[in-house]
Amino acid sequence: MAHTSNMRRTGSALIALSLTLVLPLWAGGAESKLTSAASAASPASAAPAPLLQPGEQGGRGLAIRAAKVLSVPLKGRQFLDNAVVLIKDGKIEALGPANSTPIPAGYEVLDVGDNWLMPGMIDLHSHIAGTFDINDTVYLTNPGCRASVAVRPGNSRLKMGLAGGVTTILFIPGSGSNIGGQGVLYKTGAADYEAGLVRDPGSMKLAQAGNPERYLFRVGRSFMNWNTRNTLQRGVAYAKRWEAFENGEAAQPQRDIQFEVVRLLYNKETQISTHTQIYQVVNMTLTMVAKELGLPVYIDHGTFDGWRAGARAKELGVSAIIGPRAIDPPSSRNFRFSGSLSARIQGCAAGYQEAGLEMVGFNTDAPVIPQETLQLQAGMGGRYGFRCDELQAVRGLTIVPAVTAGLGHRLGSIEPGKDADLLVVTGDPADPRTSVEAVYTDGEKVYDPRVERRRW
Ligand SMILES: [Zn+2]
Repeated sequence: MAHTSNMRRTGSALIALSLTLVLPLWAGGAESKLTSAASAASPASAAPAPLLQPGEQGGRGLAIRAAKVLSVPLKGRQFLDNAVVLIKDGKIEALGPANSTPIPAGYEVLDVGDNWLMPGMIDLHSHIAGTFDINDTVYLTNPGCRASVAVRPGNSRLKMGLAGGVTTILFIPGSGSNIGGQGVLYKTGAADYEAGLVRDPGSMKLAQAGNPERYLFRVGRSFMNWNTRNTLQRGVAYAKRWEAFENGEAAQPQRDIQFEVVRLLYNKETQISTHTQIYQVVNMTLTMVAKELGLPVYIDHGTFDGWRAGARAKELGVSAIIGPRAIDPPSSRNFRFSGSLSARIQGCAAGYQEAGLEMVGFNTDAPVIPQETLQLQAGMGGRYGFRCDELQAVRGLTIVPAVTAGLGHRLGSIEPGKDADLLVVTGDPADPRTSVEAVYTDGEKVYDPRVERRRW
């Protein structure tokens, strides 16, 4: 589908706007003269400007009516039946019952019938936004590297993810070393980097145990823990030196690009996204990063018997974003998956939930699991015991990752003032039969299987 960038559209809109502002003076203010003056003035102006879509920046307002709106705010009522959502300039303007919410004059009205409306899904563990040279294992800890330099806007995997309803991803370095660098939060439907950038750094990627053990001549967990702690402690000391300078208590420190991201962590402006799984390892994430160092952190993967640390995660206010492995299977004497020797299949997401943790979400680790199948991760969670009676599965795809990544003010729910990143779906996204019928990013329709071939 032809997809003009927001920037280009905004540019055309500005040209159109300046013509409108200038021409009345030029044409003596007479509307009939204005048209002829405009066409006579320049042959280029005769070409029609690209049409702005209702709802997008600079376009007309858009009102979408739906049988059900899964608004999923962090707190409060989670859905509304027979509702209307008003969108203006790329943002959600209002949400209310269809029969009592006035639609401003000039708004295009779109009725999606029995379909539902929900916020765009967010995946906080993805590697598909660009080239795959994001696993630089030169150093075991490398906080200064940035995945943002590898982004390839509009690549085919992003397009598939978009068709599966994933509108924002955290594009992160791999887990070949303990600190692979910084991730970038990015909108899958964007035509260029500037339009898609949500936040850089979107996170600092930490990977504990497992993959980094293959580093160089192999390193053990005790050295990895020492080295990671040492790196983060030096980073925190660096952040404190800058804090002292900013408070007028010390001289200006020398800038060190390896530790600039730790300053942001120290100031709670980004988070550590941690590839962590297995009980002891998840416990180490929680004790070392959250408790000892006091840095904002969340659990990624969280699988095997990581769920056993769920109560501690709850106590420390740490979210768990689970996947793509959905279960902790029973172990036998000869083969232990997790060391827990549980007698039954334990759903990983369910384990954290049963421990009282409410901030449980889902990830794919795309392309390990295709980006477009994020909704199925929530479905698998439900299949293995994750309670969905209060839309927890929908929340785990939307508001939970948004809040976890510090984007709760902007993404993850249908509330006035937030980005109009919306999906028209045929039902509950945790139901594998549900399909995505349209995707909006910043109020602009970026995928519609009725006007192009269905991608997924
Ligand atoms: Zn990964």
